[in-house]
Amino acid sequence: MSSLVQPRLVNGPTGDSTLFLDFAFGRRAFLFDCGDLSPLSPREIGRVSHVFVSHLHMDHFAGFDRLLRLRLNQPGTLRLFGPPGLADGVAAKLAAYRWNLLDESSADFSIEAQDWTEQGFAGAWRFRAREAFARRPIDAPRLSPGLVLSEPELMVEAVQLDHGIPSLAFALQERLRVNVHKAKLDAMELPVGPWLSAAKAQLRAGAGEGAEVEGPNGEALSLGTLLRAGAFHRAPGQRVAYVTDAGWGEANRERILRIAAGADTLFIEAGFLHADHAIANGRHHLTAAQAGDLAREAGARRAVPHHFSPRYEGGEDALIAEFETAYRRSGEA
Ligand SMILES: [Zn+2]
Repeated sequence: MSSLVQPRLVNGPTGDSTLFLDFAFGRRAFLFDCGDLSPLSPREIGRVSHVFVSHLHMDHFAGFDRLLRLRLNQPGTLRLFGPPGLADGVAAKLAAYRWNLLDESSADFSIEAQDWTEQGFAGAWRFRAREAFARRPIDAPRLSPGLVLSEPELMVEAVQLDHGIPSLAFALQERLRVNVHKAKLDAMELPVGPWLSAAKAQLRAGAGEGAEVEGPNGEALSLGTLLRAGAFHRAPGQRVAYVTDAGWGEANRERILRIAAGADTLFIEAGFLHADHAIANGRHHLTAAQAGDLAREAGARRAVPHHFSPRYEGGEDALIAEFETAYRRSGEA
């Protein structure tokens, strides 16, 4: 199978909730939330191009400093997206340090911070290292409602949940999944090689039968011929959904089901046992049973509970068992 991204929880099911989405092709990665990043290598952090922040509680944003420190001397742009207040949070973080050593000879590194709402972007700003991170407004992207990012091969969608404060849930949707049938390539006497990655990228970006791709020796090959020969198989792209920090309620339920619908993998917070639902409610969090029910109703093919409360340290099996029972229950309760 050739999925664009491989998702993994940086801190496993306990600890700060942060999802690392590593791209299979090209040196690139996304983060959903930016809590403790210490388990990631500097090389992995160096790949991060986009960070999608659910909300600004510390366990979802405290990793910003490590990200900044490792990226500061690398040219390029780091893009952050989050609920209103995200850009103010970035500005406040940057204001904590003295930047007198930065000037026109510094690496051309920039941070872009974009405040997102379900109605569209509320604002976007750039902070450039060469200007000692002075805050400048920039044009916000114009995207359809519900979209945070739109690229040829993928999009990132969001919904706004209630966690006492707004908390965003995200889904990365690959537009198309492309698999290679090696036997069909063999029959056409075409060897595998880097040319296939480029051809698959063209297909994922929507290239059709009339397009040409560059073959193994730089020759032009007809995409239509390759498709008719069965060399490539196209299927709906992978969907990875990430839900964290949301209380139980009808508005949240409807939005979680929407963002998680048909997910190939759903990461969903399951921090409390249902026996403690009064505590979970008071802190605007889901219980494991509620999370399992939502994962089942959304039709998630794989569901991964995470963000376990430290109060269950050593007893995480009970949270997993409660979650799995609700997720695997057949029919409606
Ligand atoms: Zn929170």
